[in-house]
Amino acid sequence: MNVLVLGPQGSGKGTQAKLISADYDVPHVSTGEMFRAAIAEGSALGAQVEPILASGELVPDDLTVALIRERLGRPDAAAGFVLDGFPRNLAQAEALDEMLAGIGRALDAVLFFDLDDESATDRLRGRAAAEGRADDTQEAIARRLAIYHTQTASVVERYRTRGVLVPLHAGRPIGEVHAEIQAALDLIAA
Ligand code: AMP
Repeated sequence: MNVLVLGPQGSGKGTQAKLISADYDVPHVSTGEMFRAAIAEGSALGAQVEPILASGELVPDDLTVALIRERLGRPDAAAGFVLDGFPRNLAQAEALDEMLAGIGRALDAVLFFDLDDESATDRLRGRAAAEGRADDTQEAIARRLAIYHTQTASVVERYRTRGVLVPLHAGRPIGEVHAEIQAALDLIAA
C-alpha cells in the first residue's frame, strides 16, 4: 500500500498517517519528523534546517528529495509506505514520480485532508500549547499556511486530475475520519 497524505498543517493528517501505518503495517514517513529528529540529534543536517523550520519556510528541495530517496529505499518501505509532508511543491511531486517510476511503483491513494485556514490555525495554536513545537508560533503558523496555499495546493490539483485523490472533510473527529479512510483504503486494496 503506497499512500500519500496531503493537506494543511493542523488538518490531522499526521495523526491519521500513524493510524494507517499501524493498520497496514507500512512505515510512516514524515519529512517534518525526520527534520525534527535531525535537529534533536544535533547532526549537520539538523543544524542546517533548524532555522528554516523555526521560520516556517520550506527546506530546499535538493535536501528534502535526497532525504526521501534514501528513506524510501530502505527495506522496511519495500512493501509500502504512508508519506506525510512530502511532496509540498510541484518540483518535489515530479521528483517523487521519477523515484517511484524508477522502482516500478505507483501511488495507490492520495488522501486529501480538506480544512479551512481558521480551523487549521485554531488546531495549530492548541498544539503549540500542548507540544511547544518551535514552528507553532503565530508568525510561523501564518507563513506555513501561506506556503501551503501558494505551493502545496497545486500538488493537490495534480493528483486530483490523475484520479487518485480521496477528499476528506478533515474537521471531523479522529475516529470518523479514520473509519472513512479505512473504508476507502480497503476498497483500493481489494
Ligand atoms: P511538518 O511537520 O510536515 O509540518 O513540517 C515541519 C517543517 O519541516 C515545515 O514547515 C518545513 O520547514 C519542513 N518540511 C517538512 N517537509 C518538507 C518538505 N517536503 N519540503 C520542504 N520542507 C519541509
